[in-house]
Amino acid sequence: MHSRTRRNSYFSLVLSGPRLFTPGYLSYYHLRPGLDFQFDTMRQSMDKYEGRTEEDIFISELLGEAREILQKVGSPTPPRILLEGIIKELQALGPEDAREEDRSEEEIWSQIRGRIVRAAYATRPYCIRCGTCCASGSPTLVDKDIELFFKGVLTPERVETLRKGDMAYSNITEDAAPLEDEAVKIKEKPNTKTCVFLDEKERACLIYEFRPVQCRRQECWNPDNSQGIEDLPKLTRRPLLEPTGVLWEIIQRHEERCSHDELRRVIARLAGTKGQTVDQVLDMLRFDEHVREFAAEHFKLTPDSFDFLFGRPIRQTIHIYGLAVKDQPDGTFLLTTTDEEMRSAKTRDHQSL
Ligand code: SF4
Ligand code: SF4
Repeated sequence: MHSRTRRNSYFSLVLSGPRLFTPGYLSYYHLRPGLDFQFDTMRQSMDKYEGRTEEDIFISELLGEAREILQKVGSPTPPRILLEGIIKELQALGPEDAREEDRSEEEIWSQIRGRIVRAAYATRPYCIRCGTCCASGSPTLVDKDIELFFKGVLTPERVETLRKGDMAYSNITEDAAPLEDEAVKIKEKPNTKTCVFLDEKERACLIYEFRPVQCRRQECWNPDNSQGIEDLPKLTRRPLLEPTGVLWEIIQRHEERCSHDELRRVIARLAGTKGQTVDQVLDMLRFDEHVREFAAEHFKLTPDSFDFLFGRPIRQTIHIYGLAVKDQPDGTFLLTTTDEEMRSAKTRDHQSL
């Protein structure tokens, strides 16, 4: 699983809901300026569509969308009131002439829904501590957050390092790409995107008074407030760990031997050498595991802090390259491919430790 360096904006989560009912292109055409929307006179038919005009159905579906968005946003405003307030703007977003429209249905829909979402948030312009944003990704720390370590709010066990070259999602490009620089973020609960500091029962942040900068800037009703956060200098391990002396030297040695950039190069070479260079990958895997064992033994560090000190283990991230590490009963491990087609070819190259 790739990591996200920044949290999803809740705004975009709401935006990504199901599409408005569209019986072909015509539905959006109902939004063309000049059409008279009569929300009050909607027929309340038990049968969803029977005996209703296309306009009726369209308005009904539009109300349904608004209702769903308002629920997600946590606003008590009735959907009809919301839509009546913005119907002219929605109509202005609709296609003027279906034959000449050059936007795709997706684009039209995204603009319409975006306008409804903004209007819904405007009816609830404050944090209701619902915890939704905390369950959609943990924050990446910026340099100012270093104080939280000095205060003891954050500890090495509660954070992890995404090393340079590690794969991470960008919320700007909405794609996974190797990180250009190192980042430190709060851990997420296993197999979820939920921040470890979210008390899920109470939907409350356990460190609310001391939450990091990114959390303070997060205002789901006001996406502009988090604009530019990606430009703030990110916290890295150096200011926290350089004073440790020998441990910092070991971390740097680990970075030299097991950098993601080098791992990517070594793995890329595998195909060209028909697996003959697999030892180079295994050496990196061995060193990555060895350095953690060494730190535990010599510095009495708990394994919970290793993802901060050395980043996520290579054996966990190697699947990005279509490879997998398999433990053997005798304590050794095999390097194999995750791709079925390559699996038989690679079996010859399995190495054990
Ligand atoms: S900012 Fe507040 S209201 Fe908005 S999603 Fe996060 S916790 Fe919920
Ligand atoms: S630190 Fe607190 S506010 Fe920030 S994501 Fe985690 S639980 Fe939410």
